[in-house]
Amino acid sequence: MQTVQDAAGLRATVRGWRSQGHTVGFVPTMGNLHAGHHSLVKLARARTDRVVASVFVNPTQFGPNEDFERYPRTLAQDQAGLAESGCDLLFAPDVATLYPFGAAGSVSLRVPEITDTLEGAHRPGHFDGVATVVCKLFNLVQPDIAIFGQKDFQQLKVIERMVRDLSLPVKVMGAPTQRADDGLALSSRNQYLSPQERAEAVQIYQTLQQMRDLIAKGHARKVVEQAAASKLERAGFLPDYTAIRRADDLSEPAEGETEGLVALIAARLGTTRLIDNLSFD
Ligand code: AMP
Repeated sequence: MQTVQDAAGLRATVRGWRSQGHTVGFVPTMGNLHAGHHSLVKLARARTDRVVASVFVNPTQFGPNEDFERYPRTLAQDQAGLAESGCDLLFAPDVATLYPFGAAGSVSLRVPEITDTLEGAHRPGHFDGVATVVCKLFNLVQPDIAIFGQKDFQQLKVIERMVRDLSLPVKVMGAPTQRADDGLALSSRNQYLSPQERAEAVQIYQTLQQMRDLIAKGHARKVVEQAAASKLERAGFLPDYTAIRRADDLSEPAEGETEGLVALIAARLGTTRLIDNLSFD
């Protein structure tokens, strides 16, 4: 596996592949890779001739009081894992490569409406940063397909909308959430958890399953959402939201609607903010 830091090196390699008629898959990440990321690389490997992954801790998607500085950076380890998962090229640019005019001087993309709610409401500007960096990366890599985890459900929807709205020539694919044996969604942020918090964190997935089961039994959506928030609070979490939404556009379902839904939770446990979701019919 080749690692490049500069745009010219990336472009030269991708151009060489293209001239041989190869298709290109792309997996953007912030590094500190785990089995969830590797599953996306393997999916790309199965779908395209060549696979590019990026590792870039994107400053514009972190709020001023978020964990940009302490976000784990483990490039050597990531390189080894990516090579094993079948990645052909790792693009690991520095901030100046992606933001030649600095973060403040950069063009910023805003995907309206779908970003007004849930994560967007609790992390102002977060999805502007995500959309901006993903668009920049798409322009550099020019992949045929790009793979994103359903773990970040709203992010996947935002990217799908941006691609459609801007007519970007890339097919966006969602990949299933990889979980630890107890059900906790794998996340680079799980390592912030103390051993006791790690044991408690499984309650997020358990609560999502209960939300799904209560909706299936015909309970009112608002009651289910409130019960989930109370349960998490009693267990020592500080929930940002416990929501049932339509899976296609994250709008609020009507009472009695039971098809194509997703339960989403964001909650703080100590200093760690965890998110997870569960789609169901
Ligand atoms: P991140 O490095 O956290 O920005 O994530 C990079 C990509 O990996 C995103 O598309 C995430 O949705 C995806 N991802 C993160 N965690 C998981 C997981 N547990 N299972 C599947 N995909 C994941």
